[in-house]
Amino acid sequence: MNRPRVEFWGTRGSIPSPGPKTLIYGGNTSCVCIRWGDEVLICDAGTGIRPLGFHLQNSGGPASGHVFIGHTHWDHIQGFPFFFPAYMPQNTWAIHSAKGVGESFETIFRRQMGINYFPVEVGDMAARLEFSQVSGRPFEAGPVKVSTIYTNHPGICVGYRFQMGDAAVVYLTDHETHWTHMGRSEYSERLDREVADFCRGADLLICDSQYTDAEYEKKRGWGHSRWRDTVALGVSAEVKRLALFHHDPERSDADVDAIVAQALELLGKSKSGVECFAAREGQTIQL
Ligand SMILES: [Zn+2]
Ligand SMILES: [Zn+2]
Repeated sequence: MNRPRVEFWGTRGSIPSPGPKTLIYGGNTSCVCIRWGDEVLICDAGTGIRPLGFHLQNSGGPASGHVFIGHTHWDHIQGFPFFFPAYMPQNTWAIHSAKGVGESFETIFRRQMGINYFPVEVGDMAARLEFSQVSGRPFEAGPVKVSTIYTNHPGICVGYRFQMGDAAVVYLTDHETHWTHMGRSEYSERLDREVADFCRGADLLICDSQYTDAEYEKKRGWGHSRWRDTVALGVSAEVKRLALFHHDPERSDADVDAIVAQALELLGKSKSGVECFAAREGQTIQL
């Protein structure tokens, strides 16, 4: 099979942020599509899944596949009610995530389309929807080997590693670097090492990098990383490419460009070969 292709359909965190300041990197919330042969793997169902859905349904290719939800915070599920392929009876979608706090993933996911929130219920969607709860053990999605890790985020959130032949993509958001959250200790460093091992050698790491240093001081414990710690993770995990992701809704295109420039300077000083960029809505990466 060919090498996988990765498409960014929503790169924003927290809340959609359309407008003149976000025209380049986009205002849709988290949604990434990985194509490998006929396999369609979608990471998160933020608002970016709406244009992706129309594209899948109208492009003549497969409009069935897998959706991997990191967690059920709004910015990662709010596009699903507008995911056109889920309304077509010929399609099948396997929807994966971890158990939520006190409730099954399926219960939480269905509730966002309860009558008090939305006019159409999940049960009214005509496609076949198969919910599955990840257990922490590796599993297979067709020919793709999938492993998971719990991230450091309020509630329960998982990151995914997809092994497709000899190519690996890691999708890791929302995540707060352990040592910055709880201070440097043997324990926090071990947890950060586990995250780095999970990402080790990936062809592409797509990772939470929501905050600047100043923002982080006010938002410690909110479950997101400073971009500089994400760059450090990419270096220690020796990934080939690093996509800064889950851009803060207040971040303008010029702000994102400034962060990328600083990240490249940091990487240049460390003599690292990591290719770093900010994920941009509409961008496609052929691995
Ligand atoms: Zn988020
Ligand atoms: Zn979240």
